[in-house]
Amino acid sequence: MKIVIAKTAGFCMGVRRAVELVLDLPKKYPEPIYTYGPLIHNPQVLALLEEKRIYALKEIPEKGSGTVLIRAHGVPPEVKKRLQASGLVVVDATCPRVIKVQTIIRKYARQGYACIIIGDRDHPEVVGLLGYAGTQGVVAADLKALSDLPRFEQAIVVAQTTQNIELFENAHRWVNEYFPHYKVFNTICDSTENRQTEVSRLAEAVDAVVVVGGKNSGNTQRLLEIAQGKGKTAFHVETEAELDDALVGAQRVGITAGASTPNWVLRRVYRGVQTLPFRKGKGWRRWWFTLERTLLLTSTYLALGAGATCYASARLQNISIHFPHILIAALYVQSMHILNNLIGRKADRYNEPDRASFYDGHKGFLSLLAVLAGGAGLLAAYTLGTLPFLVLFAMSLTGLSYNLNILPAGIGTGKYRRIRDIPGSKTVLIALAWGIVTSVFPALTAGAKFTAGSIAAVAWASGLVFIRTAFFDILDMQGDRIVGKETLPILIGEKKTMNLLKGMLIIIMALLSGSAALRVLTSLGYLLLLPAASLFVVMMTHEKGHMLPGIRLEFLVDTHFIMGGFLAGIWALGTG
Ligand code: SF4
Repeated sequence: MKIVIAKTAGFCMGVRRAVELVLDLPKKYPEPIYTYGPLIHNPQVLALLEEKRIYALKEIPEKGSGTVLIRAHGVPPEVKKRLQASGLVVVDATCPRVIKVQTIIRKYARQGYACIIIGDRDHPEVVGLLGYAGTQGVVAADLKALSDLPRFEQAIVVAQTTQNIELFENAHRWVNEYFPHYKVFNTICDSTENRQTEVSRLAEAVDAVVVVGGKNSGNTQRLLEIAQGKGKTAFHVETEAELDDALVGAQRVGITAGASTPNWVLRRVYRGVQTLPFRKGKGWRRWWFTLERTLLLTSTYLALGAGATCYASARLQNISIHFPHILIAALYVQSMHILNNLIGRKADRYNEPDRASFYDGHKGFLSLLAVLAGGAGLLAAYTLGTLPFLVLFAMSLTGLSYNLNILPAGIGTGKYRRIRDIPGSKTVLIALAWGIVTSVFPALTAGAKFTAGSIAAVAWASGLVFIRTAFFDILDMQGDRIVGKETLPILIGEKKTMNLLKGMLIIIMALLSGSAALRVLTSLGYLLLLPAASLFVVMMTHEKGHMLPGIRLEFLVDTHFIMGGFLAGIWALGTG
């Protein structure tokens, strides 16, 4: 099955801006924090916002305290005044494109023009716009309602920013024909326009379309109508649980989403569609899917990757291979990743619901697996000597304390009480830990010295793991932001992170080839350019929208670590 996700699917600029603004409010404004009405139509997000003491305000209190955010839809001017008069600090997150429509309406209403809004009367944006029209505002939901309106001496016609383009164009033509003295402003937002144009093209190219978004979201409903208008089977779903089995037979499926659909909901639906043929199908495909999923969810595939990296690192440094080194790397990585996943289930509820429910359902087994893997790793380290055992023990303690309060309450501002509270710490610590277990351990404990080659090998292994972690963090950005994780992409932005990772891959390739040329590393360095270059291509392909987040992408990225070990094996056979 080929799946195409619309490039314009998900949060529009205005909604993203409002969500980011509200999440930043507790740092700068008095609490409690309110949004005037629900911020977006997603019950999970609203529940999580409440956990963060961000509540949806239904009524304006006579006397309020705290801060209230006006949503992207905007409000009538008198509502804003009443909010301010109540004593609440008002932060206005009205979308700039909605403000533009409000400005047009206010200008012409003051000059005595009637203001006709093509839109849904009850939609919050239209309610807000009517407030700017004073007594001269009227709403027409369709052509019939428009033709039923009385004739005005002077009038303007505007559209709700998420209005159906076709409907508005028809209205425009009708007005030109019957009331050419009316002034018409096409105020449909370009985000809406692009989304609708894209779904129209998408529907022509696929067998079925899945539209993701709230059942009461007008712009989502319009996307559905456009897809159906093209004569294609179209499904409107709020979550992946509503996916229809009828999709199993489709060869090409298009997915789009309304302007207030978080990207993790979109990803979950995408994953649901992607895995539908495997989950519902039979034979080797189902078997392969189950294997892939289990290897990833239990971090077994990653552990194999760590073992392979350790082997490749020893070959790179030209030191003898001891099986315990490979075992330690694999067991330590598996143990720490399982523990982190167990602790991080809250964020996974958004980004990786499959993983979250797997960890919820197998909590006992996975905890035991983590403890056994960690214990076996320590035992293997003990067989190598006291120093390796103590180093691994210290690393395990650091890994375990990552999510625990280290500083007691009352010390400092309370903001950085856990290691995970330090922004970007996860990416750096995971990379360092991998570098130590895969490259430093073999160098120190095999009787070899820590050489320039060892430094280059640590930089190679840590660099690749840093790239892997930060790349996955980019995919999880919206969900992480909601749960308050401060990952690297949240700190410096998606684009900068992507550029940083691509730059790092180029440096790693230069390091491998340069060190191999200078004989700091063995000639395996040349061969290991392959996985680095391949990872670069995968990231570029994803960036261009040709490779979507999901089990396959995760499996593919982690395969690069196994590929390194495999190439090292071939190199060892070739060089004797
Ligand atoms: S759809 Fe357009 S106008 Fe409406 S909030 Fe989004 S960006 Fe702003």
